[in-house]
Amino acid sequence: MDLGEKISILAGAAKYDASCASSGSGGAANGGRASAEDGKPVFGSNLPAGVCHSWTEDGRCVSLLKVLFSNVCRFDCAYCVNRASADTSRSSFTVSELVELTCEFYRRNYIEGLFLSSGIFADPDIVMEKLIETARALRTGAGYGGYIHLKIIPGAGEKLIREAGLWADRLSANIELPTDKSLQTLAPQKSGKVIFGAMENFTELDTQFEEDRRTIRFLPRGRNTAPVFAPAGQSTQIIVGASPEDDRRIIHLSSSLYRKFSMRRVYYSAFIPVGAPVRGGIPDPRLPELSGPPLVREHRLYQADWLLRFYHFSAGEILDETTPFLDPHIDPKTAWALAHLDFFPVEVNRADYETLLRVPGIGAKTARRVIETRRSRSVGFEHLRRMGAALKRARYFITCGGVFIDRPEEPRRIYRLLADKDGAGRQLPLFEF
Ligand code: SF4
Repeated sequence: MDLGEKISILAGAAKYDASCASSGSGGAANGGRASAEDGKPVFGSNLPAGVCHSWTEDGRCVSLLKVLFSNVCRFDCAYCVNRASADTSRSSFTVSELVELTCEFYRRNYIEGLFLSSGIFADPDIVMEKLIETARALRTGAGYGGYIHLKIIPGAGEKLIREAGLWADRLSANIELPTDKSLQTLAPQKSGKVIFGAMENFTELDTQFEEDRRTIRFLPRGRNTAPVFAPAGQSTQIIVGASPEDDRRIIHLSSSLYRKFSMRRVYYSAFIPVGAPVRGGIPDPRLPELSGPPLVREHRLYQADWLLRFYHFSAGEILDETTPFLDPHIDPKTAWALAHLDFFPVEVNRADYETLLRVPGIGAKTARRVIETRRSRSVGFEHLRRMGAALKRARYFITCGGVFIDRPEEPRRIYRLLADKDGAGRQLPLFEF
């Protein structure tokens, strides 16, 4: 099989993994390693197979070569196109092919980094070693300075995770499904305990390396820098809609992953019912029958995740037992505001930072600018607009100098005004709230 065919199979096989935004790796903190954040974005529609666009935390678009080392897999996860029982073309790279390919794409400025995962084609340690070997060869033999994101293969030992973190910018172990019960049903060879164990190993190693960096003055003579361990941290992915858990369960899981494992990002991947197993002409009863991937749900989960990470909301504030799913028609911050109208209106000239963050249409950057500006003058609606506030949403929840722009008393009316419309501008059917 020639290299072109391999790329097409192994890039196609990797495209369902969402956990590859290349954020959080800074040049200085990175021990001099370049990262996707340092590089120039590559745009264009005629990029070679395997090159995907990804977004950094600050919203920039970066390009990554996203491939599997091999799509041969011993596991049989029902939701995955690469599962052992799937009738699909199989292939594997060699380390030297992958090194050459990555360097070539990097030199031509097609990519700023590599995202490398693999099917479990052998014992987890052997698969992990192949990924490490590739990263090591890129960093040492090939002098590659781009971004590297490696997947932690479930079951790989701590020593290998340590070594992977010495060559890669980011590591990720995918939790995949929100509960152990769903893993047992859909991915019986995987175990939540093993996946959490890998995340825990990462956290411990990260702390240990950080400690070494702090005590750098005690390093032996001749060594003036401590090694850097995965400077862009760890991330994970949760598949949404393949199993019955509600959004509340998912958001609580994400919140605990951020807390316990200092997770840099949790990615949500709408389940794509493509190539789902069919037995005797009947779709696999373990999987839901969906007409398409639940993309709106995925989008709302990302917004809720944003509230956890940047707006200091707790998981319990976003969803509770009475509201287990995010409203598909309205963003979760607005949904919270409408359910807590007694918290509003917020007087922009007096409210503290945390209170400003609760206002729909006011982001963290705008809230900081408001606090800064208020030191020298009072803030009016026009100032707010220029500072980046989305007054279309904020107007119902704020006063400036005691004055409202608009204040419909009836929350359902605000909901109607703010609910997403369909592509033709028609109001979508509304949910009760
Ligand atoms: S381990 Fe599961 S999810 Fe990963 S490639 Fe194999 S079948 Fe797919």
